[in-house]
Amino acid sequence: MSDYVLVINAGSSSLKYSLVDAASGAAPAVGLVEQIGEAEGHHSHRGPDGELSTKLKVENHEDALRAALEAFSSHGPSLDDVELAAIGHRVVHGGARFGDPALIDDELVAAVTELVPLAPLHNPANLEGIEVARRLFPDLRQVAVFDTAFHQTLAPEAYTYALPLELRDDHGIRRYGFHGTSYAFVAAEAARLLDRDLADLNLIVLHLGNGCSAAAIRGGESVDTSMGMTPLEGLVMGTRSGDLDPAIHAHLARELGKSVAEIDQLLNHGSGLKGLAGGNDFRELSERREAGDARAQLAFDVYCHRIKKYVGAYYAVLGTVDAIVFTAGVGQHSAAARAASLANLERLGIELDESRNTASGADARRVSADDSPVAVLVVPTNEEWQIARETVALIR
Ligand code: AMP
Repeated sequence: MSDYVLVINAGSSSLKYSLVDAASGAAPAVGLVEQIGEAEGHHSHRGPDGELSTKLKVENHEDALRAALEAFSSHGPSLDDVELAAIGHRVVHGGARFGDPALIDDELVAAVTELVPLAPLHNPANLEGIEVARRLFPDLRQVAVFDTAFHQTLAPEAYTYALPLELRDDHGIRRYGFHGTSYAFVAAEAARLLDRDLADLNLIVLHLGNGCSAAAIRGGESVDTSMGMTPLEGLVMGTRSGDLDPAIHAHLARELGKSVAEIDQLLNHGSGLKGLAGGNDFRELSERREAGDARAQLAFDVYCHRIKKYVGAYYAVLGTVDAIVFTAGVGQHSAAARAASLANLERLGIELDESRNTASGADARRVSADDSPVAVLVVPTNEEWQIARETVALIR
């Protein structure tokens, strides 16, 4: 049997897929179907026999997966030739039930359905992807890899909110954390780069993409993380506020007459960098900031100040830190964000090397000074490869 896994990440109006060799990480084909259910959708696919970029109407996720299969036939590679080992699905919320990847069957589908109230935007879309793939590949084993699973090692004091305890026990209102697939991958890569055993390392990992979170990782296990019951808590993100005084909710409702749905929308989609500076693209924000735009500068400052606070908090949680690791779009590419987030932390043993930090590079690398007691690393994440690896590990 091959090690090829079809990795599927189904969103509410999109279906992202890649064919990944779990052994090497090679991805001979990647594709994305967007604007599912809209008047006009878009499909892109890159395979060994060329690239496809086409507009088409895509009624639903089944149409999207059928379009993907056609693209495999036309632009390669042929799925008959690669002999898929399995399909791996990204599932956002596994609640307290899933601390590991799980084989997909009717029981799993029912369990993920029960978790929909905790992730009303994400889990239904993930389930849609699962149902469609089960219909089109009835004989292939399918695995769910949960974004929350990595953080199931958190201790009660880290995952419990200071609310009446019944809310936790009867309604699942507790911290779960997200980006777990990325943390698992990046932590292992960091250990490799440091040439150390992951079991001996204390890491602070900063996943700074459109969604942003931080994690304190001891010996390869998550001990704290900044996202909570939902991905809204913690760092400042592209469009999400991150941490807030919880009384702001009531104030927005009482004084500004906003509904619960409007507040939810505001905090998830109209806040963060977008709310502060009018746009969530960090690259554009950086260009505006360099050109002297005061709102872009403030957004950048708020963003980096929050990161620094979490670095300090997780330093205290871990006691000692071997490395701080930056990953995802902003973490990998913005030297300015790394420098501002870690400025003046020499007394904590954290010292960047300016020329290493500003040098561009696509590979995992060290950007700290040689005599910095805490290493600072940039490690590109690869969630698709991690999903493929966990899928193959489970079915074998
Ligand atoms: P991700 O969610 O990991 O794809 O990250 C997306 C974010 O990374 C967006 O805000 C991008 O603007 C940002 N990003 C990507 N490339 C760069 C870059 N070269 N410099 C600064 N930010 C970048």
